[in-house]
Amino acid sequence: MTGTVVVCGAGTMGRGIALVSAMSGFHTVLFDLDGGALRLSMEYARQRLARSSGDMSPDEVLASIVPTTDLHSCIGDVVIEAVAEDLGLKASLFNRLAEINHSDTVFATNTSSLSVSAIAERVQHPERVCGMHFFNPAPAMRLVEVVKGRSTRDDVVEAVTELARRMGKTPVLCHDSPGFIVNRVARQYYLESLRLLEKGAADIPSIDGLMESCGFRMGPFRLMDLIGNDINYAVSASLYESLGRPERLRPSSIQKDKVERGELGRKTGKGYYEHPASDI
Ligand code: NAD
Repeated sequence: MTGTVVVCGAGTMGRGIALVSAMSGFHTVLFDLDGGALRLSMEYARQRLARSSGDMSPDEVLASIVPTTDLHSCIGDVVIEAVAEDLGLKASLFNRLAEINHSDTVFATNTSSLSVSAIAERVQHPERVCGMHFFNPAPAMRLVEVVKGRSTRDDVVEAVTELARRMGKTPVLCHDSPGFIVNRVARQYYLESLRLLEKGAADIPSIDGLMESCGFRMGPFRLMDLIGNDINYAVSASLYESLGRPERLRPSSIQKDKVERGELGRKTGKGYYEHPASDI
């Protein structure tokens, strides 16, 4: 597969996916409504490229990313959306892009917890919609969950799987069920840690320190700050609802408080920890 990859949303995930795409030799359009997010994304790419090596020079990689706030520039062979975790927003973006793209363009969603089939049903070409779930940080994490919706065509699943491979990732095909695989399994990691905190059983550094000392790369609170507390809360709420509100998956009031206070983690400089501005 050659050609152009359009990445929509230049936040925590979009900027990483765009960098992976460019480093894999794809001409990459990075779209966001917020020019500040685009500038931060290019700075993020510069910083990561300065400490990594690859077949292309940093300047070549940077030159193949085209940041834009103009939706009409988003023409490509594959669109990967990484905008906010909102079904209506994702579907309406795909519909607007379907109108200006060619009839073979594939629409991949990076949703963590929404139903790929439900997004696709609201899109005029549901057979061309597929899940392509990257992990955070996208340049470092190898796994990509490829999610086949009810109407997704087999050749579209194959194209997304091949794209993930071309990006140096390990694609795993999974069914369209709440949280797919990783987010469903990992939910307890966050929620049980939040319950311990709610009950005053231990403080944040102790819980993180203990989990890290028993082999987890990041403790749950450090990881939630990396993910973004708004996203993590949205995923918790979505899984809770779609699995019939089981008590064990009830979102924590601490998560809700964090979102209401705007303490979203690294992206706002404060979450469960303080994060310096250079920590992008
Ligand atoms: P984020 O809040 O960091 O970034 C979202 C970006 O989308 C922002 O820059 C925002 O300006 C932009 N945006 C919002 N509406 C837009 C629109 N209509 N058009 C263009 N841009 C728009 O969010 P994120 O953490 O990058 O998450 C994005 C998606 O990726 C979500 O669906 C989330 O579930 C999924 N995801 C997140 C993680 C994670 O660890 N954060 C991991 C895997 C998947």
